[in-house]
Amino acid sequence: MDISKVGVIGAGIMGNGIAQAFAVAGYDVIMRDLTEDFVARGMTTIQKSLDRLVARDKLSAEDRDAAMGRIATTTSLEPLADRDLVVEAILEVADAKVELFRELDGICRPDAILATNTSSISVTKIAAASHAPQRVIGMHFFNPVPMMRLVEIIRALQTADAVCQTVEAVSRSVGKTPHIVKDSYGFVVNRVLVPMINEAINCLYEGLAEADHIDDVMKLGANHPMGPLALADLIGLDVILNIMETLYQGFEDPKYRPSPLLKQMVDAGYLGRKSGRGFHTYGD
Ligand code: NAD
Repeated sequence: MDISKVGVIGAGIMGNGIAQAFAVAGYDVIMRDLTEDFVARGMTTIQKSLDRLVARDKLSAEDRDAAMGRIATTTSLEPLADRDLVVEAILEVADAKVELFRELDGICRPDAILATNTSSISVTKIAAASHAPQRVIGMHFFNPVPMMRLVEIIRALQTADAVCQTVEAVSRSVGKTPHIVKDSYGFVVNRVLVPMINEAINCLYEGLAEADHIDDVMKLGANHPMGPLALADLIGLDVILNIMETLYQGFEDPKYRPSPLLKQMVDAGYLGRKSGRGFHTYGD
């Protein structure tokens, strides 16, 4: 399947990064969010990110301007009707994603590939919302998208071989390394990573050590490039909680119980970098 026109739904942390990756690689991109403000914020983030690449001599000013010129924005779904591939990156709520895929089913071309960037929701369940579930797949990018090399490709129970192959090739074409895994709660990366972060939060909750120390011991002792609490702040504590709840409810296994402190932090609105405060504080 030839892919040249891409739709990205959601202009938040992941959506704008995904739109940037496709645009830099030469794809024609339409990025959709719910309001003009949200799409404008996404475009500003992309512009700043590309400016930084130019300042570091990793991209020419011409290529930056060409990439920006390849991204159109919209607040409705209809402009996605001619897309070859649509990548969804809206909030991590199963019902919202299922509803969106149902809508996309009526709007997109019947042969278009519909991908979800979900961190942990069953891609098989999302695929079931489509009349052509064989074209639905998980395309799991990592944060920050322009820097992270992996795309974890999630094969739903219904996904066709040809769709897997196309998405694998598309991932390579945007400079990423794809790995195909079977659909299961949390897939592979988050099933390993997020319970580790949750356990670090429990260490803080139980008063074993301060946040800085927990991060430092994992950097020094496990050779992690970033401590687990700093990583939680980067990912977003609401996203971490959502993934733990998905693992907990999906496997019905108490070993995935979300830390009480994680729940409190989310209740307080301390979501990490995006709110200026998480396990660490950011900005002024
Ligand atoms: P975010 O909150 O930064 O962005 C989500 C955006 O989606 C918001 O701008 C919101 O307005 C928009 N939105 C909500 N409903 C919409 C709809 N129906 N149509 C269009 N836009 C809509 O969230 P994020 O961190 O970018 O996460 C997006 C997805 O990517 C989630 O499924 C998340 O689990 C997944 N993910 C996140 C990370 C991460 O590190 N943040 C990493 C991998 C995957």
